[in-house]
Amino acid sequence: MAQQEDVFKKIVSHCKEYGFVFPSSDIYDGLGAVYDYGQNGVELKNNIKQYWWQSMVLLHENIVGIDAAIFMHPTTWKASGHVDAFNDPLIDNRDSKKRYRADVLIEEQMAKYEDKIQKEIEKAQKRFGDAFDEAQFRATNQRVLENQAKYDNLHHRYQEVMNAPGGIDLEGMKQIILDEEIVCPISGTRNWTDVRQFNLMFKTEMGSTADGASTIYLRPETAQGIFVNYLNVQKTGRMKLPFGIAQIGKAFRNEIVARQFIFRMREFEQMEMQFFIQPGTELDWFEKWKQFRMKWHQNLGFGAENYRFHDHDKLAHYANAATDIEFHMPFGFKEVEGIHSRTNFDLSQHAKYSGKKIEYFDPETNESYTPYVIETSIGVDRMFLSIMCHSYEEQLLPDGQTRTVLHLPAALAPVKLAVFPLTKKDGMPEKAQEIINELRFHFNCKYEEKDQIGKRYRRMDAIGCPYCVTVDQQTMEDNTVTLRDRDTMEQRRVAISDLRSIIEDEVSITSLLKKLL
Ligand code: ATP
Repeated sequence: MAQQEDVFKKIVSHCKEYGFVFPSSDIYDGLGAVYDYGQNGVELKNNIKQYWWQSMVLLHENIVGIDAAIFMHPTTWKASGHVDAFNDPLIDNRDSKKRYRADVLIEEQMAKYEDKIQKEIEKAQKRFGDAFDEAQFRATNQRVLENQAKYDNLHHRYQEVMNAPGGIDLEGMKQIILDEEIVCPISGTRNWTDVRQFNLMFKTEMGSTADGASTIYLRPETAQGIFVNYLNVQKTGRMKLPFGIAQIGKAFRNEIVARQFIFRMREFEQMEMQFFIQPGTELDWFEKWKQFRMKWHQNLGFGAENYRFHDHDKLAHYANAATDIEFHMPFGFKEVEGIHSRTNFDLSQHAKYSGKKIEYFDPETNESYTPYVIETSIGVDRMFLSIMCHSYEEQLLPDGQTRTVLHLPAALAPVKLAVFPLTKKDGMPEKAQEIINELRFHFNCKYEEKDQIGKRYRRMDAIGCPYCVTVDQQTMEDNTVTLRDRDTMEQRRVAISDLRSIIEDEVSITSLLKKLL
């Protein structure tokens, strides 16, 4: 675990050192849980967004995009339930004065029991080798059984408090924290306050106070911009059910505990798609979208074992199915995307609060009804983090040296091709520029002439550039260059005129999209 934390720290500093992610307002020592993307980060982020957008809007004839404003009419958030219920249960430790999410403290305690069980299993696996029977071990080992019982008991109590009839049972939550003897990691004490609800929306004022300014919110999710535009898009686009609306944009949440770098931010970006369907077909569509979204993730080649579905223990009262896609981060399996079957809750609420009829006339059945919705909602920043974590490697080379390399999928890499003149003379820099001038219209290229070639390769490995080209003496004679592959470090001689066809396919988002069909 400590080793994993070390790796994570290295990834965070790598992100800063190589221009991927900086703390916001860095010269003023940063701002809590707000980050800026640097020269390489913005390229990677844009590529992630493009991969998502194109997989939704280009690959599906019945999905269109919009870009709604961040500010919305304040009644939107009354209708959606965010004003009354977008809360997290918080608890303070009186000694350290640190604030925690009570639900997270309990979930971490459950994860501890799971960890203990896993460790016993791994130990036994090593001891028994091929003869190991996990099911039998789980059913008979005393320590596993004890921890499983503790887990089951806690899980059961947690479900009860989260699903209490009048909303979350805050006293019950505190009692669990006391009974489980959960201590504050900073002070080590159990001196806890009561659990209170805390609304996560940021507020601001629109208009001057003199003429009666109104309180408006920074949107905590992009989805509501889609729901309030359902009628506009359906009518102007003559959309027939089933159809979807996709959007990428900023969202804001005043998170109580913001930790783990860009995993939990107060300003972040979401890519959401609302798919409008006929009532009664939702479980079918839910399953289809689950499968498609998982395929989208696994298409990046990070290994199926690094993903899992996690069905929600607590369903919102209007949802009839919900699952998360979790990715194996250095700090455990964590949510990257949520897929929710939201019934007709949002559209009905907006109809009620706006007084507008928000329905669909189905020409096939001659009926009008409020469509049901399947939502897929993914955080750009969490996706970015999962890609960084998976791609980062400190590799020991056969000659005993180490190199830090980012094995980014080529289609997402910020820079696709670096071109180096071997020396700064004999026309090599001009030749290198000529190659860039030709290829820059097709993908992102970078010119580097400083330091020895070895050092230049290392710098490109560190930003995940998949290809490097070196212009040398032979180039001046026969128009060939060496093309070096980031992952294998192998070099081969190729004609300048072949460079584009060798590289373009490999580095284009299209190559990823084709594998999705
Ligand atoms: P969590 O339980 O981790 O707070 P959530 O279930 O509240 O997340 P959703 O409301 O389902 O998250 O939001 C959809 C997606 O938006 C999440 O899967 C995540 O990728 C992203 N997201 C949500 N909150 C944040 C945040 N504070 N920082 C970065 N990304 C976020």
